[in-house]
Amino acid sequence: MSRHFRAQYPVLAVIAAMSAACSSAPGGEAPGDDWVEKNEDLSTVPTYEQYRDEARRTILGRDVFVVETDMLFSDEAKLLDYYNERYTDPVDKSIINVASGNRDTRSSPKNIRYCFSAGWGQNQGTYTAPDLEPVRIAIQQAMEAWEGIANVQFVYMSALDGATCSTSGANPGVDFIVQHYSDSNTAIGPFPSNSWSNQRLLVPTSGIGRLLAIHEVGHALGFRHEHTHSGASPRCSESGTYEELTAFDTDSVMKYSDCTVSQAINGTELSALDAIGARVAYGPPDWWWAVIVN
Ligand SMILES: [Zn+2]
Repeated sequence: MSRHFRAQYPVLAVIAAMSAACSSAPGGEAPGDDWVEKNEDLSTVPTYEQYRDEARRTILGRDVFVVETDMLFSDEAKLLDYYNERYTDPVDKSIINVASGNRDTRSSPKNIRYCFSAGWGQNQGTYTAPDLEPVRIAIQQAMEAWEGIANVQFVYMSALDGATCSTSGANPGVDFIVQHYSDSNTAIGPFPSNSWSNQRLLVPTSGIGRLLAIHEVGHALGFRHEHTHSGASPRCSESGTYEELTAFDTDSVMKYSDCTVSQAINGTELSALDAIGARVAYGPPDWWWAVIVN
């Protein structure tokens, strides 16, 4: 799954360069080029001893193990557990959509532009759109949540709000729009690979809370429903192609509470595995490196 590591994570090259300047950090042993390179090759299975020795680090004077760029284990027993889960008793890997053979990620993840359509709070004939302000607040809080765990940045193109913010004509200069629609309860988030006319995060007449917004923004980043995971219980299949990035996570923001009953989301905050999956897809947020590299 990481064979495209370097291509997908230009930030790693920056980190490799940064680490040279960090060699005098407490503990003395900052990650170097090899630290990055060794995470690239997953085509052969290392012995546990090789895996452990390559993962060994001293960070801030503490002996720890770091694998897959950003997973840190403070004791060897936990590292061994992880090794076994990964290699000897593998669990398939948050879920990202796959389009044309590639992970369906935003092409400019540090500049994901959006705007709000016209007509909020107004009668649309068959329905009344919710007020803009609470919708805007929930969606922006959701964006901040994703920005806090992965290398993504949303940019509010407020000057385009209103009639210009529409997918019915030419793109005014955004990656997706936020629009109200007639459904009373169901929100919809657009995958990055959607056509321009479908780059719409749709908000139902009942509005959208922060946790539902986190789920929909997750779709806008390419993430699919966790309950389609091969390890899910209960599991509900969906059409399309996807890639499993982490082990099944019952706490995922991308999972329905019980997909056999309804489309109600878990209603959870971003989980530890959501964060790992997001970093596999987009790389870590900038603050991450201050923790790992120091
Ligand atoms: Zn969904």
